[in-house]
Amino acid sequence: MVAESPVSMAARTSPMERTVPGVRTMVGSLAGMAIGSEDGLRLDLDDWFARDLPELCVPWPPGGATEPALVLLNGRLASDLGLDPDALARPTGVAVLCGDAVPAGANPVAQAYAGHQFGGYSPRLGDGRALLLGELTTPAARRVDVHLKGSGRTPFARGGDGRAALGPMLREYLISEAMAALDIPTTRVLSVGTTGDLVRREELAPGAVLARVAASHLRVGTFQYAASLGDPDVVTRLVTHAATRHHPGALDADDPALALLDAVVEVQADLVARWSAVGFIHGVLNTDNVTISGETIDYGPCAFMDRHDPTTVFSSIDHGGRYAFGNQPSITLWNLARLAEALLGAMTGDVDANVASATEVLETFPDRYRRQLHGHYAAKLGFVATDDRPTDHAMSSVVGDLVDDLSAAMTSAQVDHTTFFRHLGRAAAGDDRPLADLVGDDAALLEWLERWRTVRLVDRRPAEVVSAAMDDVNPLYVPRNHLVEEALAAAVDGDLGACSDLLDVLADPFTQRPGLERYAEPAPASFGPYRTFCGT
Ligand code: AMP
Ligand code: MG
Repeated sequence: MVAESPVSMAARTSPMERTVPGVRTMVGSLAGMAIGSEDGLRLDLDDWFARDLPELCVPWPPGGATEPALVLLNGRLASDLGLDPDALARPTGVAVLCGDAVPAGANPVAQAYAGHQFGGYSPRLGDGRALLLGELTTPAARRVDVHLKGSGRTPFARGGDGRAALGPMLREYLISEAMAALDIPTTRVLSVGTTGDLVRREELAPGAVLARVAASHLRVGTFQYAASLGDPDVVTRLVTHAATRHHPGALDADDPALALLDAVVEVQADLVARWSAVGFIHGVLNTDNVTISGETIDYGPCAFMDRHDPTTVFSSIDHGGRYAFGNQPSITLWNLARLAEALLGAMTGDVDANVASATEVLETFPDRYRRQLHGHYAAKLGFVATDDRPTDHAMSSVVGDLVDDLSAAMTSAQVDHTTFFRHLGRAAAGDDRPLADLVGDDAALLEWLERWRTVRLVDRRPAEVVSAAMDDVNPLYVPRNHLVEEALAAAVDGDLGACSDLLDVLADPFTQRPGLERYAEPAPASFGPYRTFCGT
């Protein structure tokens, strides 16, 4: 589409040598490839992370694209970010979003991070096929990362080709948009574009670049990498950087590193509780996929659970069920313990005191998670008023017991997670039929429902008020696996219709609309067993 692409200039610029901890890398100079504000594109990117923490990144240019073209542009997100969607869709914007040009003044870097993958430590992962283009300040004065994924090999690529295939990038777009509409903290996708090149996966696939927007890309693995450098000053600077961006209260604490840990424990407990409420399975909760901001990141093998069962695993490589639905809280705590270890050297006490105080913070996780979970489930079960304030009753031990016992009963009855709560809302409004049909004669769930009805008796609100409040928090439309796969298959074949229809449906997950019945239905029996794959 763009015949003479600015990035071809990058390929011609002479490489300069640069030493990063542990590696010597060749870095292409970015001079000469930067673009200005042609086509009306204004994309002012700061490089605070790169300036503040040069030890944790390598300046690196995107790898270019033969024929950059946009497939999807998130116009509403662009506007929220203060960007002009029309300008982004013109050739200069397309070139930037597809990794074929760099905005003037930007200083893209590949970020370094380590990570425990399935429990095994990899000392150096990093952005193997991604770049932090820079940070954008939104009209609401929020600083966000603008990041490219699939933009070519970097010094962290190891054996990888640095590329991404169209299907998985569209999948990230679909599911992260659904998450945002479900009010779950998440990285967002600004665009998916194709490069005009083919990438080799199981078969040849269209190469794609995804532009991701995140509160930041700081991960537990970023701290692990920083700690591994053996220079406590780097971790201390990273603590200050992360706290300034995400948890400013920690800066004023006596021990900022400990306070940062405490803040991350809180946001992660909330995040996992929100996943639990909607039946989301992340699928690859390695420490490099756990953010400091509390946003969901890395939509590789994730999927929404249909039939409720804590042992559910979709990821093709998760043989032991380490990242099964029901394991997400405990594995998150495990990941937070790795964060605590990385922070120990930056804490203010001696080693023993630091270990003791970090342990004390980690030990708060189960209660925090449980409190968040109970808050969300109290609302799902109709015990929270529409004004969103959990009442004393909602947080009572009676409701807590109901919440605690629900998962086993749902598992016993093999009910669809999403449908169950919507039908429960109908039952709260006096229409028991859909729920009765769903539950059948499962004794465990019938007994649980009797208890739920009894607890409900003390609620004096009109039935329709209660059911409306439940519908406000229990989605009707989630990205069901069979619908996602159907939409992606069509999109890769060049037909974006199903993808954009699904995006429209998922943008408003709580409001029932006529004609959308199929989007609320579980997969047909012929679908599955469903398998997902890590970010390919
Ligand atoms: P992910 O599964 O996307 O979290 O990736 C895990 C690690 O593998 C990260 O360090 C990625 O940058 C790297 N990686 C994944 N796919 C590729 C690829 N095609 N080329 C280079 N690096 C990759
Ligand atoms: Mg990842």
